Amino acid sequence: MERVRLYDKTFKTFIPHERIMEAIDRTAAKINEDFRGCTDIPVLLCVLNGSIMFTAELMQRLEFNCELVSTKLTSYQGTGSTGKVKQAMGLTADIAGKRVIIVEDIVDTGNTIVELKKILAGHEAAESKVCTLLFKPDSYTKDIPLDYVAMEIPNDFIVGFGLDYNELGRNLKDIYVLDEEA
Ligand code: 5GP
Ligand code: MG
Repeated sequence: MERVRLYDKTFKTFIPHERIMEAIDRTAAKINEDFRGCTDIPVLLCVLNGSIMFTAELMQRLEFNCELVSTKLTSYQGTGSTGKVKQAMGLTADIAGKRVIIVEDIVDTGNTIVELKKILAGHEAAESKVCTLLFKPDSYTKDIPLDYVAMEIPNDFIVGFGLDYNELGRNLKDIYVLDEEA
């Protein structure tokens, strides 16, 4: 098992890159089943920064015409949620009347998803679906359905493949979990 040190914390390998790719393959296949042949142009909404790697991998596998829009939301500080979601950057394009697929790195408490749904309704999206690479079911407190979940994980703090610890670790190819023993 490989270990990485980010500031004061040590992380150990949790999900290797190949398993992440397989999970994205399966998720893209489901989205293709639902959207292939559509006559509208759906929008992929990349929620920066965490979702950047997942969005890039997912998008390459989609077999219908789609647009890419980004926004930036923040709620985490260190290894925990502050409970308050801040929109640090607005939507990069107009989504009025369009079907939107929210592409998230991870759904934890669900606060971010609630906020995103509100933002999209405010901008008059025709419909919005949620697609997330990771989901912590034990932490989720909302009743908004998650349409596409690539992988479920326990309530541990993870980094890598776009996810950070105080902005470090996003470049790691695998996903790592906090090593409590270290
Ligand atoms: P929620 O609003 O669902 O509680 O949290 C969503 C956001 O919190 C995610 O988009 C992500 O930025 C951050 N987050 C939640 N869990 C983790 C985690 O285990 N590791 C990292 N690095 N970020 C997380
Ligand atoms: Mg995120």
